[in-house]
Amino acid sequence: MASPVTRGHPRDWRVGAQAPDNAQQLRCRQIINEARLCNCPGCTRTRSGVSRYCGPHRDAASVRGDPLARLPSRNELTIFKKAIDLYIHADRKFAARVSGDSKALERRISLPPSFGLGPGDIHPKLPQIAKAKGLLANWQHRDKRTYTEAVTHALALMGWMDVYYTTSGGLWENRKAFLYTRAGALLGDFRKTIGAKTLIKDASGATHRHLGRDFVRHAHTIYGKDFWSSAVSTNDGQSMTLLDYARMAHKAAGLLS
Ligand SMILES: [Zn+2]
Repeated sequence: MASPVTRGHPRDWRVGAQAPDNAQQLRCRQIINEARLCNCPGCTRTRSGVSRYCGPHRDAASVRGDPLARLPSRNELTIFKKAIDLYIHADRKFAARVSGDSKALERRISLPPSFGLGPGDIHPKLPQIAKAKGLLANWQHRDKRTYTEAVTHALALMGWMDVYYTTSGGLWENRKAFLYTRAGALLGDFRKTIGAKTLIKDASGATHRHLGRDFVRHAHTIYGKDFWSSAVSTNDGQSMTLLDYARMAHKAAGLLS
């Protein structure tokens, strides 16, 4: 696929031109693919189009990143966020570096308010990157939320996935797509309130993944790839990984059996 045209404001950006032989190649692949079974364990439907999955499972995978994994609950993520907070504040040097890096990133990623997009700006010729930038500008300016918050959320999700992803039925092949989608989904959809009415245009899973991929990458650079394997010691002198600590906190909260 050709790269999108990105001049001016995101609302003016356009998708690039498609290669002319694209449609026929796609149809050939489709015919072969549609004779095979859906990749979801236990599903007896045949695949749809060029997807690994049947129609319903493909749609679920597109919106959520994985057709089977359940979404994290707010309570669960709160515990992982608390564990991150405790870990950072136990080490003043680490806390200072994280705070400095986050502020620098915040400045670098800051978008102009005019990049924001409303439901009326969304149409089929608008490229993914325009929608992603639009959502991020809405988040920064209209919602008054920060990039740092999105990065921390991505880090909490990584911990959640280490504990829950496989047991919740998530397919291994989709673990990255699921992480990116959930990380980006924090920024929500395109909405505009006029009087008592709110117009909403759903942001696609692909738009959320576009944003989530960056949040995850920045979480890795700021906190390190092995953050959840960091060693911690509890008040009673036990030594364990931060992930085990969070797991213990979940058990104590009755969220994990
Ligand atoms: Zn299926």
